[in-house]
This record gives sequence, structure tokens and C-alpha cells, in this order.
Amino acid sequence: MKKTLSILLLLSSQITLASIGPLPPQEVAKKNLEAARKRFEAPRGRTRNKEVSVQASQPVPGAFVKNGHLIFDDRASATAWLRLRAPEIKKSFGAVNFTVADNHAYQTTVQAWVDELWVGFKKLFPAQTEGLESPPVLMVESEISNAFVENHDRSTVAHAVIVLTALIDEAGGIEKKTELTGILAHEIAHAVFKHGSQDVKEKIEKFYVREGGTLGFESKKDDPKLQGKMRRYLDAARSSGELTDRGLLNLPSPGYASPYLYRVWNRMRSTLSENSNACNVEKAAMKSWGDLLQFSTLEFGYLVKASPEQLRGASQDLIDAETSCFRGRRASLKRAMAAELKLSEEQLEASPEFSRLLSAYSSGKDSVEGLTRVVELERKTMLEVEASVDFSHLGYYTTEQHADDVSALVHASLGQPADAFGRLLKIMMANIRAEDAPACEAILGEGQTPAMGSLFVVHHSYCYRIYNFREIAKRLTVDRLDAFVPLVGLDVRTNVEARAR
Ligand SMILES: [Zn+2]
Repeated sequence: MKKTLSILLLLSSQITLASIGPLPPQEVAKKNLEAARKRFEAPRGRTRNKEVSVQASQPVPGAFVKNGHLIFDDRASATAWLRLRAPEIKKSFGAVNFTVADNHAYQTTVQAWVDELWVGFKKLFPAQTEGLESPPVLMVESEISNAFVENHDRSTVAHAVIVLTALIDEAGGIEKKTELTGILAHEIAHAVFKHGSQDVKEKIEKFYVREGGTLGFESKKDDPKLQGKMRRYLDAARSSGELTDRGLLNLPSPGYASPYLYRVWNRMRSTLSENSNACNVEKAAMKSWGDLLQFSTLEFGYLVKASPEQLRGASQDLIDAETSCFRGRRASLKRAMAAELKLSEEQLEASPEFSRLLSAYSSGKDSVEGLTRVVELERKTMLEVEASVDFSHLGYYTTEQHADDVSALVHASLGQPADAFGRLLKIMMANIRAEDAPACEAILGEGQTPAMGSLFVVHHSYCYRIYNFREIAKRLTVDRLDAFVPLVGLDVRTNVEARAR
């Protein structure tokens, strides 16, 4: 179902808080490249100052900023704001159609649902919703299926929920109230808790140990050693690829992350491969490797179509072909990397991180060995972390997971099914790949915990999200709601108070 797949392509810019993930590998690579670029822009010590300097907000007619929220006087002012932002958002979603639709046929119904949910928000999170009213719903006609909340600028989240019409159609129509309110509550959570703010993100995004079926929001997330290790791990993985379970073998490859390094490799290949038959062999190997990779919604693994043996074989063929293409040749890593990151060679040289990688590259006798050394350097860090962290019990709490948890609690507080959004995710998963839904049910039926997916995907896999919703629904009896609310609300509530001072 081609149209559905497009929901996954919505790579939101960093300021769009979309609800449906994960992203396909190439989009993750794109996102990671952005992160890599940031990492190379300035030596680490200085990066922080840069983040602190906040862009000045553009004045918006009929809107005011309060405590990090951009609050609109009425729906008309929110619509006018969205119209101004629409071209940029359209581009970031890769949408063909993105028409802000005033008085859309679904408008009144969806707004009424949001107003109902708002009662639950007020009841459960009085501190966070203080001074806020039910957010206006803005309908947008688009072929993309999603709903989202948008930052106004780096530090201000617009208090409005944007719903793309295809979402309602793909969910099965406007009669799917439960499922659709599931995603709406998730969006309202993004707005209320200001998930687009870097401060909040840092407060929420934590690694934890999953013990005995403990859910993310119940787990202890205050282990600073674990946070430090995993930050180092993610930094290294951004350049050399994640390799916890299915090895990257020796060289950067598509699909296995290695985000910017792979693109650098591609760029070097394109300059080296002219007039080389060996590199034609390499291109064929690349294609068959690509054919084996398939994006799955079940987990953010790609290799559903291929057995590990097939994969290993294709991977080895690719490495052999790339090696024969590159062996004995040396390309300028600095030039390729600068071109890929759109930075000057001088800027790269000024970065201690880059000179570290460049000297690793230079220690190889040719490009193959050089790039292998770069990957090895990063992997050394990763392997150290892997040796001391139990990845099979590792959890990563993110703003997306938080929004899911809030959605569950708000529904429960209103006497609605806590796993409302989980039900929508199940429909979406089946729309994208029919076989994923039963595969997920099988995993859940056996009492297993599904894989969370790539650590770069803050949404986590569809199947993991469905699991999370169902587990909450199982445990969430009304008398336990009061015990759960502080666990979900605490992090940001503290933060909101601190910011208000
Ligand atoms: Zn979201």
C-alpha cells in the first residue's frame, strides 16, 4: 500500500513532533547525518553555547507566548500561523498535497474529541495544563497519514494539533473514534509537555534497565553511568553504524546505519569508480544487497526477507566487490567528508573529532583499510559499552514513549480503552505490511517483549509500542491511576516549574 508507506517518510524536521514512526533506513540516515553535521560543526566544548542561543521568535498575529507555549487567540489565528508555516512543513514531509483546510468535513468532530480529551488532561495534569485551553485542531488535506504538533521556534511549542486527513481515512474513517483519539491524546501530550523543547527532551530521554516486565515509565532512569555510556555509544554509532545484533561486518553498508560514513564512502566510490570494471561488479553487489533489505514496521530491522545466511553471503559479496574496487586506491576522506557534510575542509580540520578520524583513516594503506580503521575506532568505543551493558534488557525512554504513556493514562481517566493508540498502530502496521500484524501478535501471544528497534528511532517499533499500550491497559485499573500519574507526569512537571521561575 504505497500511500501508507508515505507516512513513514515523513521525516519531520527536528521541530515537528510527528506521531507515527519509525522512519525507513534512508530517512534515519538523513537524520543522523544532520546530527553528524552538528557534531562536526564545532568542537564539543563550544556546542553547548550554540544550543543556548535561541532564535528570536517571529511575531504572530493573534498569538502570544507563555511559558514556552505559543497560544492562539482563536482557531483563525492558529490557521493563519499554519498557512505561513505550511510550505516548510510540506517540504519536510515530502508531501505532494498539503492544503490547510478551513471548515473541513471532519473538523467539528475531531475538535469535539480533542475537547473531550482535554477534560482528562486537566484532571490528570493540572500543573502542566494551567493557563492552557483545549488546543485548536487544524485539518490539512494531504496524502500523508499523520497528525503532529509543531514548534514555533526552538523554545516554543505551538498549542495546536494538526491532523492530516489521510490519517482518518486510513484508520478506517471517522467512526474509528477510539483509535483516532489515541493518536490525538499523544499529540496533545507533545503540546502540553513541550516535547519539542531541548530542555524537556534532555529531561525525559533516558536509558534504563528493563527488569521483570517493568514498563518504561515505571523504571528507574537515574543511573548517570548508564546515560554516559549510552551517549558515547550513540555518538560512535552515528559514524560507524549500530552493530549490536546483526554485524555490519567490516565496511559501512546501507541499512546498517553508518550514516554519514556510508555517504562519504559513496562519494569516494563515485570519484574512484570511473573507468573501473571492478566497480561495476561492486554496483551489482550493492543492488542485490539492497534487494535483501526490507523495511519492516514490526521492528526497525530491515532484514525480514532474508535469512541471516543469505544476508551474510550478500554482505560478504559486497565487501569483496568493494574491496576489489577500492584496494590500492586512496581517496581524500577529508574532501569527501567536507562535501558530504557541506562544511569547509578548514572547519573539519578545526574539529578534534574529525582529526581523530582522519588520522585513523591515514593509518590504512589504502581507502579500504583506512575506512575500516575509522569504523574500528568507533567500534572500539561501542564494544566497550556493549561489554558492560546488557542490551537485551536495555530500554530507552523517549518523548515519543512519554506521549504514548500520557495517551494511555488520559484515556483510562475518561473510562476509554488505555490502548486506544495501540489499536490504531495495529491498523497502520497491517496497512503497511500485511504480514507484520500477525507476526507481532505471535510475539505478544508468546509473552515475549518485542524488540524496541533502532536506538535512533525515538518512536520505537510499532510492535513494541503496541506491547507498551497493552501492558499499561492490563495494569491500569482506575484505583491505580493515581499511582501512575506522578510517574508519567513528574519529569516534566518539575521542569515546567523550573522554567516558570
Ligand atoms: Zn509523537
